[in-house]
Amino acid sequence: MMTKKRIALIAHDGKKAEMVAFVKDHRHILAEMEITATGTTGGYVEQTGLNVNKKLSGPKGGDAQIAAMAAEGLLDGILFFRDPLGKHPHEPDVQMLMRICDVHNVPIATNPATASLILEALAS
Ligand code: PGA
Repeated sequence: MMTKKRIALIAHDGKKAEMVAFVKDHRHILAEMEITATGTTGGYVEQTGLNVNKKLSGPKGGDAQIAAMAAEGLLDGILFFRDPLGKHPHEPDVQMLMRICDVHNVPIATNPATASLILEALAS
């Protein structure tokens, strides 16, 4: 039996609508995966009918929790729709997450185009 791929979803507030649209477009792939998400993003994703393992909200430590999962080898990929036009109180955590992904060679997409490529590769 094939083990399920483990994917984490995070979207900054300015990108949540884009994340919901992305999830709906890729529902057939995501439905076969184990989904973890930051708290608020996860709530939106759940509303599409998918099961989500919700962590804390990003500014409260959710990004850091997902970084810890990446460091422990518990994620096959991260889709992180960052808002490049916004300011974020948890910017240090965002940088830490990117760094941890580079340290541990975990695929991380920061926009929908790359996210599609990663999802399709993981699903194949
Ligand atoms: P949220 O966190 O899904 O809880 O809003 C995302 C973030 O801003 O990192």
